[in-house]
Amino acid sequence: MKQKLSKEERRELERKQELEEKILSKKREVVYKEMIKAQKASLREDKTAPNDVFISLQHINKIYPNRVQAVFDFNLDIKEREFIVFVGPSGCGKSTTLRMIAGLEEITGGDLYIDGEFANELEPKDRDTAMVFQSYALYPHMTVYDNMAFGLQMRHVPKPEIEERVKKAAEILQITEYLDRKPKALSGGQCQRVALGRAIVRNAKVFLMDEPLSNLDAKLRVQMRSEIVKLHNELGATTIYVTHDQIEAMTMASRIVVMNKGYIQQIGSPKVIYNHPANTFVATFIGSPAMNIIEGTFKKDHIELGDVVSIKVNKETIEAHNNFYKEEIEKANNRIEEIKHTLILYEETKENKKGEQPAIDIDAINAEVESDPEVIELRNSIAHYEDCLNNKEGHPILFGIRPEDIMEKTSAVLLKNPSDHMKLKVSIAELLGNEYYAHIDFLGKDVIAKVNAELNVEKDQILDLTFNLDKYCLFDKVNGRNIKPYKE
Ligand code: ADP
Repeated sequence: MKQKLSKEERRELERKQELEEKILSKKREVVYKEMIKAQKASLREDKTAPNDVFISLQHINKIYPNRVQAVFDFNLDIKEREFIVFVGPSGCGKSTTLRMIAGLEEITGGDLYIDGEFANELEPKDRDTAMVFQSYALYPHMTVYDNMAFGLQMRHVPKPEIEERVKKAAEILQITEYLDRKPKALSGGQCQRVALGRAIVRNAKVFLMDEPLSNLDAKLRVQMRSEIVKLHNELGATTIYVTHDQIEAMTMASRIVVMNKGYIQQIGSPKVIYNHPANTFVATFIGSPAMNIIEGTFKKDHIELGDVVSIKVNKETIEAHNNFYKEEIEKANNRIEEIKHTLILYEETKENKKGEQPAIDIDAINAEVESDPEVIELRNSIAHYEDCLNNKEGHPILFGIRPEDIMEKTSAVLLKNPSDHMKLKVSIAELLGNEYYAHIDFLGKDVIAKVNAELNVEKDQILDLTFNLDKYCLFDKVNGRNIKPYKE
């Protein structure tokens, strides 16, 4: 039996763990810096751009001078004419990534290619990108015309050509009648059009837009959203658009990149992201109201959600489940090996600095690996994954279902694959005009169903509900990843 620690002992243990963590992160930093140095030393000529890709971001990392790592191992290939949207909560690294593409922020590690050229060290002006910011950044003392013409004048474009380009852009954006006005005589929407116009006249290959609509009111945002999409269809310039608004991402993007805490969570078309979220973060960030996530138990051939509903799972899902857990075990073991490798590299760097042959004590390193907090967590995860594969009693799982896939009996008649009916009580009914958001207390959790407004839903009413079983998701309880196979 474990002995209970006294307060003093616990504090001492925490102090020790903190110290170990500090030492370890210091060691990783040393190795990382070496890695970056080696990367920077490699010659520019050695870098060859990948084929058939217009912009390529390969293993991009960003560490700010204050040591905040804003972006981790960002990988993305963008084709010409694509409309890519980076979406995620505030502070997840979207703007940092965009600014690295624009050349406004130095890339700490990784390679950036734009139109076949290694672009890490290119000056912003040589990247042929045009940026549109949230704060329109217009010159207040200049007219709309001059604001749009200024960049071209600085590049010594001949006057008649400037005039032609500005007039054409003004026509596209329907701001011709404001060309003589100053920004203070314009509305927010008109200012943002001028900012877009300034980008259009550049004839740039790439448009980079950083939350361009965030300063506008809701109605204008919806209008400008479709205008930007139309503009993209017309001009065809490759566009990267940053927003924290999932609706903008869903409605505008040809492909969405969902980010959280500096990491890419998923890349895919709006349809794929919505129907096959890679994890619970994406599942609950995209879509409104959010996907309902319900705790359940995965048994040999069915899923139980308390004693309310039992869902039979098909062979394909069982196979996907088993493959998922085998892969997770392999990934965790690989990560442990990677950590060990980092520590060995650290020892080698340290020894080499003294000019001596490295003498590496593998036993000491193994012991250090096993006391690494990340490894301890990985070992716990492996034990959990093995339990999910082998425990005959079943294991916990997260069952995800979107509000529109929980249906009232009468509207579910045409479902190919419904669950058993459940009689559930409404705790709150929110009317949105054409539908209700019916809040239901389901196994102690607030679950939302979208119900047709013709039904007249009220508080405390008992609804006869069913799940659309063609649409549910299953996530691992510990790491939140989607275990169901994705089909295009
Ligand atoms: P987002 O665009 O998704 O809101 P950012 O890319 O602006 O996120 O920021 C990502 C992280 O980097 C945040 O934690 C932020 O505080 C930090 N950060 C951004 N700019 C700087 C900077 N110039 N110096 C230090 N940290 C920064």
